[in-house]
Amino acid sequence: MKAAVYHGKQDIRVSDVAMPTISDGEVLVKVHSCAVCGADLRTYQHGHKSIDSGRVLGHEFCGEIVENASDNGFAVGERAVMYIVMPCGTCRYCELGIDNMCTDRTTLSYHHDGAFAEYVVIPKKAVELGQLYRVPEHISSDAAALSEPLGCVLNAHGRLNITKADRVAVVGAGPIGIMHALTAKMNGAQQVMLLEMSQERLDIAKKFEFDHYIQVTKDKDHHAAVLQATEGFGADVVIVACSVAAAQADALELAGKRARIEFFGGLPKDNPYTTLNGNLIHYKELTISGSFSEKRSDFERAQELIMTGQFPAEELITHRIPLDDVCDAFDMMTAGSSLKVCVNPNGAIA
Ligand SMILES: [Zn+2]
Ligand SMILES: [Zn+2]
Repeated sequence: MKAAVYHGKQDIRVSDVAMPTISDGEVLVKVHSCAVCGADLRTYQHGHKSIDSGRVLGHEFCGEIVENASDNGFAVGERAVMYIVMPCGTCRYCELGIDNMCTDRTTLSYHHDGAFAEYVVIPKKAVELGQLYRVPEHISSDAAALSEPLGCVLNAHGRLNITKADRVAVVGAGPIGIMHALTAKMNGAQQVMLLEMSQERLDIAKKFEFDHYIQVTKDKDHHAAVLQATEGFGADVVIVACSVAAAQADALELAGKRARIEFFGGLPKDNPYTTLNGNLIHYKELTISGSFSEKRSDFERAQELIMTGQFPAEELITHRIPLDDVCDAFDMMTAGSSLKVCVNPNGAIA
C-alpha cells in the first residue's frame, strides 16, 4: 500500500510499504480521510523528539473497518473515528481521569503508524478500551476526522469555563483558532474577536461571522482595537492559537483584569522559550493555562458535537487532496491559504 513515511526534518516521502496485517485483538481500517494537523506540520518542519524515522504520521482520521480480529462489535464496512491516546490505565494521572497526562501513554502516529496511508492498524489496547466510535451515514469522513482536533480544543475550554460574561480574543485564525472561536461562541461568550497577522487568513475566516476581525501588526494597532471592542477593559479570555512566542507575550497585554489566558499548542522544540511581563500577571491577576492533547471525555464530546451536526466541521475544510500531495498541505498551511486540509488516501470516497 501507499503511505507517507516520515524520514526526518523536511523529509516525508510517499512510498510503497508492506500492506499491514492484523493480529488477534486488532482492527484494520481503510483510511477515507486524514486531516493534516499543525503538529504534523511542526514535525515536518522541525522534527520531533518522540517520532522515529520510518513512522507514518497522521492522526486526525476516519475510515472504514475492513478486517476485525476483535469482539468489539464493529462490522466490516462500518466507519469509525478513534481516540488516539492509549493510556497505561494505572498511573496517578490515569487514576485521576486525565489520561492525556498519562506518564506511560502511547499515541497513534507517534508510537504506532498513523493514517497518512491507505490502511491503518488500530492497536489492540485501543480496541480493548473501546476507543473506536461509529460515524453515522450522513456525516462525511472528512468532517468526522475533525473530532480529534476539536477534542484538543475542548480540553482547553474545560478549564477556561467561558460564559456569557466573557469577551474572548482568539489569536491565530488558522483552523484551530477558528475552532476555539466557534467553541467560545457555542459556550455563550458575549463577544468573540479573532486576531491574526495575515489579512488573507482573516478574510477566509469571515464566513464564520465572529464579532470582530482584527489584524495583528508590528506597531500593535491591534491593542487599541481590542480595547475599543471591550470598552477599554481588555479581553476576559485570550486564547493563543498559534505557535509563536511573541504572541504569548502579547496576550498578556490584550488581557483585562482577572483574565484567563490559554497558551494552546506548543512552540518549536529548538526554541520553546517565551519572555513574559511578570508585572502584568501580578497587577492584573492573570491566570495562564496550557493544554496538551485531550482526555477521552473531550474526544467523546467532540465526536458527539460533530456527529450530531452541532459543530460545523464541514465548513472548516477547504481542501481535499490525494496522499501523493501531502507535502503540498504543509505549504498551504504555512502560507495561510487553507483551513483544514484533508488527505484522502483512497480517493474521493469520503
Ligand atoms: Zn491533531
Ligand atoms: Zn497512565
